[in-house]
Amino acid sequence: MRVSTAPARQSDARMFSVVVQGYGAGSQRRSERQIKVAFSGLQALIRSIALNGGRILEVIPAEADIETPAAAAAVAPPSPAPTPVTPPASHASVPVNIYKPKEPYLGTVLGNYSLLSEGAIGRVNHITFDLSEGNLHYIEGQSIGIIPDGEDANGKPHKLRLYSIASTRHGDNLEDKTVSLCVRQLQYEKDGETINGVCSTFLCDVEPGAKVKITGPVGKEMLLPPDEDANVIMLATGTGIAPMRAYLSRMFEPGERAKNPDYAFRGKAWLFMGVPKTPNLLYEDDFQRYLNEYPDNFRYTKAISREQENSKGGRMYIQDRVLEHADEIFALIEDPKTHVYMCGLKGMEPGIDEAMTAAAAAKGLDWSTLRPQLKKADRWHVETY
Ligand code: NAP
Repeated sequence: MRVSTAPARQSDARMFSVVVQGYGAGSQRRSERQIKVAFSGLQALIRSIALNGGRILEVIPAEADIETPAAAAAVAPPSPAPTPVTPPASHASVPVNIYKPKEPYLGTVLGNYSLLSEGAIGRVNHITFDLSEGNLHYIEGQSIGIIPDGEDANGKPHKLRLYSIASTRHGDNLEDKTVSLCVRQLQYEKDGETINGVCSTFLCDVEPGAKVKITGPVGKEMLLPPDEDANVIMLATGTGIAPMRAYLSRMFEPGERAKNPDYAFRGKAWLFMGVPKTPNLLYEDDFQRYLNEYPDNFRYTKAISREQENSKGGRMYIQDRVLEHADEIFALIEDPKTHVYMCGLKGMEPGIDEAMTAAAAAKGLDWSTLRPQLKKADRWHVETY
């Protein structure tokens, strides 16, 4: 974008021509055009273009051609359906439902280990399955179904449960023949008894060599944009880190970068991670390595709820961290190359909305209007339970 450096006149009557591509309704969007705007509306127009996926080529003073208020109204920022500047991976080519529940793929467990350090709460495991005997393949951001062995209380086979995939399409060993999950054993108290989740317990206990029924893959909500210059903001609680771990491997693992010459990530990736205690942090060594190797591209902000306090003296949740950095996050979101991904507990959503509402209001914008626009532009991705 070229912005004129002509000295500004301190007058409300100043007019500017904004040369823009990919902005407006219908055929306007396909061509390059000029929008004239008064100085007072310039910032709002620039924001609107950015949020709607347009590209500003030039901003020039239009002094000799001052418009009447009616003409200015005619060129006021429109609110067209937004178009993503960085379209998602072609959704049509994304693999889905290759294996269905009636005929699942039988994946041999290659490894199953704890991701937690001493003193952590609960059980979280990384489990890898062999895919070499079938046609199950997937891309980052998808999920697979697992049908646990055994029967339910009615003597029927268990239903499948979906888990976000934690590996890239190439798998942890880069051979394109494995898939990995990050699973917390669900445990809760009922009538004074500890109840263990059926599928999560099955997965945390399963031994290498066992064959597990797998379906899928499914899901197109959490796909990464193919744009190597995209900015990717990730908000994860607990095992909601699974898809983010896959994205970050794709972006920063040396072996991944060697395998993906068409994806040399150069944008900014910012991970917000919420866990109860430091020993509950997941894939921490990898993330620290990415921080060392890519300090200009990777940023990592933690909310450790039972060790850190928010400004009100309560548990530090990721929405508190989002609030602390709301202006920076909002400035990034104004860039059409920025995508936001949220995965984990549903409870974080209202807090994140509140933080964004405040940041938007500080700029005179309305988050309740902007969020659906981002969603339509395929830049706001949520998978929470
Ligand atoms: P967890 O370890 O129990 O919790 C992660 C962190 O989130 C803890 O620090 C917890 O704090 C905090 N937290 C609790 N309530 C919160 C709230 N309202 N807002 C923000 N943070 C909050 O996490 P987990 O057991 O792994 O659970 C992750 C959840 O993500 C599960 O519900 C799982 O089903 C879901 N998940 C979804 C997907 C998906 O949608 N694809 C994938 C993976 C996981 P305190 O416990 O200290 O209060």
